Amino acid sequence: MDEQYYTEQPPTIEAAKPIISIVGRPNVGKSTLYNRLTRSRDAIVDDRPGVTRDRMVGVGRVGANPYWIVDTGGIESDNEEIHSLMRDQVEFALQDSDAVIFIVDGRDGATAVDIEIAKQLRQKPQITVYLAVNKAEGLDRALVASDFYQLGLDQPSIISGKNGDGVVRLLNRVLSETEGRRQAENDGYAIPEGVAKLAIVGRPNVGKSTLLNTLVGEERVVVYDMPGTTRDSIHVPFKFGEKEYVLIDTAGMRKKSRIDDRVERFSVMKTLRAVELAQVVAIVLDARDGIVDQDNRLINLVFESGRSLMILVNKWDGMSGYERDQVRTQIDRKFGHMGNIPIEFISAKLAKGVDVIMPLVDRLYESAMTNMGTGRINRILKHAEEKRNPPMVGNFRIKMKFGHQGGMNPPHVVIHGNQLDKLPQTYQRYLSNTFEREFDLIGTKVRLSFKTSE
Ligand code: GDP
Ligand code: GDP
Repeated sequence: MDEQYYTEQPPTIEAAKPIISIVGRPNVGKSTLYNRLTRSRDAIVDDRPGVTRDRMVGVGRVGANPYWIVDTGGIESDNEEIHSLMRDQVEFALQDSDAVIFIVDGRDGATAVDIEIAKQLRQKPQITVYLAVNKAEGLDRALVASDFYQLGLDQPSIISGKNGDGVVRLLNRVLSETEGRRQAENDGYAIPEGVAKLAIVGRPNVGKSTLLNTLVGEERVVVYDMPGTTRDSIHVPFKFGEKEYVLIDTAGMRKKSRIDDRVERFSVMKTLRAVELAQVVAIVLDARDGIVDQDNRLINLVFESGRSLMILVNKWDGMSGYERDQVRTQIDRKFGHMGNIPIEFISAKLAKGVDVIMPLVDRLYESAMTNMGTGRINRILKHAEEKRNPPMVGNFRIKMKFGHQGGMNPPHVVIHGNQLDKLPQTYQRYLSNTFEREFDLIGTKVRLSFKTSE
């Protein structure tokens, strides 16, 4: 084994990905840029009137830096209400993003709607706004920028979403500045080491608050007077038995008394934020609705984020045998391929089936935070290779030399060798599955990355 180039470093915990929203009036090129910036597409349905296109949330990466990117949706351009709809859209982006990319059309110059959006964006100086002048291919950069200084925003980035000019530079700028801000943004509560962070997510009314109260009791959850926590804190420490946990509460689960909370819309970005900060995510579904599109997309987003995941099918009480079979069939069809994700059928209201949940939280936490050990990783790799050889590429066999753990939450293994960029998906899956089995991991997939040496 050729380990001379490698010095052991402890696995790092993957940082939360920043959430970047794209705003701008219709036809400036939001969805074109979104498509360029994402590898995965997950449409999130938003039922606000006047919105013609689904809000899209996807994950992307520049170099080693991942991010969530949100296309805040399309608005009917002929609509007379465009001003108020734009206002809502921008407000939504400002609420939950770490950074906003404001796109304008370099060929149109600054329009009245642009000026209005800029004014609204300037009112929240704590969110950094990046002005992107789009459709600039073939145009004089200085000239195209000059019309937009009147917006009173930062130095504009001149880009073309269509052919990619300036896009990576813009993203690098956003990511380098946003990371620093996120680290400063802390609600003051230091989480003790070894304490699991849990997020309970799902559509409105599926039973999240009911579940939380059933699990830990209202009086123990509403702990505003813990040292270091505040009323608005998103970190809510609680105890179950003798063990400490932290609930990540960004969806206002504890503040249900206000009338307008009941009509609070499902916020994908708040959900994402909670997911990013957690190690363990419980997704709650309402069995009476079956598995709706939004559940499906949410599960895929969480799965993609790498956080350890369990699915809780709630309101299982009072369902007929036939209805239950239907839900089970749907779940098998949609999530069967995810393999090691625990699925439990519960009634939060009647406290049925809930006893397994906190022990599962512990197991999922251990999975997320497993320290795999370089020695063991290499034994497993060697064994896996002996059992099933990587394929030939031309006259050469792909060769794995050694591996080590690259990170936790999700568990991540880095493999060094020759021609690893040609390792087929099927073989990569075989390796991930092998690691998951050997380390008894549930709820998450082991990530692999490859370093090819000569
Ligand atoms: P959105 O409504 O803001 O999401 O805008 P779209 O992404 O749908 O783009 C609107 C139109 O502008 C489409 O016809 C795109 O092909 C075009 N477009 C987008 N980006 C560019 C660009 O960088 N250069 C040029 N020339 N056209 C673009
Ligand atoms: P949240 O918006 O996801 O936090 O949902 P809530 O906890 O506020 O619950 C929404 C509604 O579903 C309330 O009327 C609850 O009483 C009801 N509910 C929650 N869990 C169950 C359950 O297990 N069975 C039944 N039948 N109703 C439930």
